[in-house]
Amino acid sequence: MKLVSACLVGLCANYRFEACAVESLQRAFARGEVIPVCPEQLGGLPTPRSPAEVFGGTAEDVLSGKAHVLLKDHTDVTEAFLRGAHEVLKIARLIQPEIIIFKEDSPSCGVNFVYDGTHSGKLTSGRGVTSALLLKHGFHVISELESNG
Ligand code: SF4
Repeated sequence: MKLVSACLVGLCANYRFEACAVESLQRAFARGEVIPVCPEQLGGLPTPRSPAEVFGGTAEDVLSGKAHVLLKDHTDVTEAFLRGAHEVLKIARLIQPEIIIFKEDSPSCGVNFVYDGTHSGKLTSGRGVTSALLLKHGFHVISELESNG
């Protein structure tokens, strides 16, 4: 079984109420081979919602309380991001996925890149908060760009 970002299987989970569907993952979902999760929805955030970025450090710093996740107007949504990450960890522990395929560039799901915290559309190396938590607990997380479905 694989765990995947909900938006990758065609669910309108992202902040714009849109999906980022990957055809091979949609097909795998239809065959019952993947379980979709959206950490931000599981953390209690609405859809659509304002976009958020990791600010003042890395996602690992967010996990240790040294950095935050902020909206453009500096509203602090760290608590919801942490709540969602821990809900996904709970699911991963239950289903023990062979692999987790997450959406690149997301402040929750990004695996290699995230936006840089300035809300100016610039990417930087780093992970999303949920990816960082899952990796810390030994799960195998890759992005949709590294997956062959
Ligand atoms: Fe997709 Fe993850 Fe963003 Fe949810 S939090 S919309 S699953 S990238």
